[in-house]
Amino acid sequence: MTTKVLQNYDNIAFNDNLIRWYEKNKRTLPWRETNDPYKIWVSEIMLQQTKVDTVIDYYNKFLEKYPTVQNLAEAEEQEVLKVWEGLGYYSRARNLHTAAKEVVEKYHGVIPDDPHVLGKLKGIGPYTKGAISSIAFHLPEPAVDGNVMRVLSRTLLLQDNISEAKTRKYIEDIVRELIPADNPSSFNQGLMELGALICTPRSPACMLCPVQRECRAFAEGMQEQLPVKLKKKKQRVESYIVLLLKNYEGKIAIEQRPNEGLLANMWQFPMIKKENKAINLIKETNDKAYAVPYKNVIKVGELRHVFSHIIWELDVCEAEINENIQSDFHFVSIESLPSYPFSVSHIKIRDEMVDRKMD
Ligand code: SF4
Repeated sequence: MTTKVLQNYDNIAFNDNLIRWYEKNKRTLPWRETNDPYKIWVSEIMLQQTKVDTVIDYYNKFLEKYPTVQNLAEAEEQEVLKVWEGLGYYSRARNLHTAAKEVVEKYHGVIPDDPHVLGKLKGIGPYTKGAISSIAFHLPEPAVDGNVMRVLSRTLLLQDNISEAKTRKYIEDIVRELIPADNPSSFNQGLMELGALICTPRSPACMLCPVQRECRAFAEGMQEQLPVKLKKKKQRVESYIVLLLKNYEGKIAIEQRPNEGLLANMWQFPMIKKENKAINLIKETNDKAYAVPYKNVIKVGELRHVFSHIIWELDVCEAEINENIQSDFHFVSIESLPSYPFSVSHIKIRDEMVDRKMD
């Protein structure tokens, strides 16, 4: 049954114009030079929430270090996080690593070409499953991301709120009908590329658009009003003091975050909630709580870091600990800080500190 919105729609012209344009105009990118499902998988995970220009260097570096899924499966998680350092959304790296181990253990190192099996691997959601299936295995699977939802909302004049999961499913159904069995890879990538280069969120370049004649929003002058994207909940602000704690040997305290939740297993300088005014760093571990007294606090900077659901406001302070206290901190030299995987906000603090060579 044809989805109602596709009735009276010239999908043949749309597909032909889109694919022809894509094959002529696509950007040269390293992951477009390969059909290797592992490499395409790595690129798709890195490209989530991250700009193409940023990904290129990380992609090359990652594949140099882990050229095959076996190499990745055999790596230590800390080492993988170190290669991923600075790219953000670190659960992507941990999930990719876990899934690589699963591919080696369960599927003899061969990435499954059945979309249902592929979609069960850790970190592979519907979009990534569709992208790998269509690009590496040439299967007519939808790969619907924000770019694709924007392009199809405009060309088909869809008024549904793209922040809702049911809209994504609806657009996947539409793609299943549109996607040509003989070239699903160029069709999916063409939609994404059109969204990235021409049908951009603001001021789409309709005069240069290969599917302008098939675009209902353009015909109605509605391209700037679509897609409908109703605001999500506001981000929560959390204020912390980040302590650059130096001990009697001049070494700096760092700690590892818990192995679950935000930035799991990444390293950082100790952080305390700003409302906690005491000159005691209260550490709570599973079975004990203890206080770490510090002194000579000097504020050396401020930083704001925006996550998708939280904003961190960080006051960066230097301080000293005199006694050789017992704590869960690792005291390391400033020179050795770069060998630990830090999250983006703490990389900025660390790099400034390394430059300043705190005396
Ligand atoms: Fe987007 Fe404009 Fe092309 Fe329509 S004509 S798909 S709004 S760029």
